[in-house]
Amino acid sequence: MNFRTRFAPSPTGPLHLGHAYSALLAFDMAQAHAGEFLLRIEDIDQSRARPEWEMQIYDDLAWLGLRWPEPVMRQSERHAAYDDALDQLWQQGLLYPCTCSRADIAAAASAPQEGAPLHGPDGVIYPGTCRVTACRTGLRPTITPLRLDMRKAVQSIDNTFYFTETGQRHGDIRVDADTLTLGIGDIVLSRRDMGTSYHLSVVLDDAAQDITHVVRGEDLFEATKIHVVLQKLLGLPTPTYHHHRLIRDAAGKRLAKRDDARAISLYRVEGKTPKDIRLMVGL
Ligand code: GLU
Repeated sequence: MNFRTRFAPSPTGPLHLGHAYSALLAFDMAQAHAGEFLLRIEDIDQSRARPEWEMQIYDDLAWLGLRWPEPVMRQSERHAAYDDALDQLWQQGLLYPCTCSRADIAAAASAPQEGAPLHGPDGVIYPGTCRVTACRTGLRPTITPLRLDMRKAVQSIDNTFYFTETGQRHGDIRVDADTLTLGIGDIVLSRRDMGTSYHLSVVLDDAAQDITHVVRGEDLFEATKIHVVLQKLLGLPTPTYHHHRLIRDAAGKRLAKRDDARAISLYRVEGKTPKDIRLMVGL
């Protein structure tokens, strides 16, 4: 069976139990399907990524018993691919530059249409201020943030589509025009500080690495709707998705990178074994 999955950490802090669970689950699933497990370093946020965290990631994952093919894909080396995709979308008239500040957006979004949600999977839903006035001709601007015109995007692909989910919400997940235009809106695809965005990069990289099964945390379930739209717009295949439960602390709070107490490296110093880590996350 053709099964290829990946673990895609950002080197912005120590790996904790939640990362260990995600990586081990993806690795185990690949093994169970006689497939492949890949590693990708998601370091587009150069203001937060650190080489020492990247080294720690390799070290912790190898200690956990994971193996992956080299060389490892690093997003910081993939800007040519991101630029090509942005050019393609720009030429189709699907992007527009946005000059709104956060304060502008907060002010405009505080008076939403009745019944319209304020937040989507990408944060505050953009009220569309620049959509009408922005210039969309000429060369693609590279310094200004670029937003996806979701209404136009939806018009250029099927109105309703599905993706396959094998995690907790098992089934064919429906994505329709209203979810996209009202519940997600015009998301930023190229950020001023990165020249790309998490959503665009993850979609292009999963396709470039021929990933057939994306295994990741439940917190990214809603964002998958954005990813599937981008795949449709860019003519890329949609993998199967498996969103797993999140590992929580004793108080039920989701673990975060700043929660240093649960860094894998600290468990290692305390003398825990990879088997102990598996038991702690329920594997
Ligand atoms: N780089 C993301 C993170 O560390 C993972 C994104 C994904 O798996 O799609 O949260």
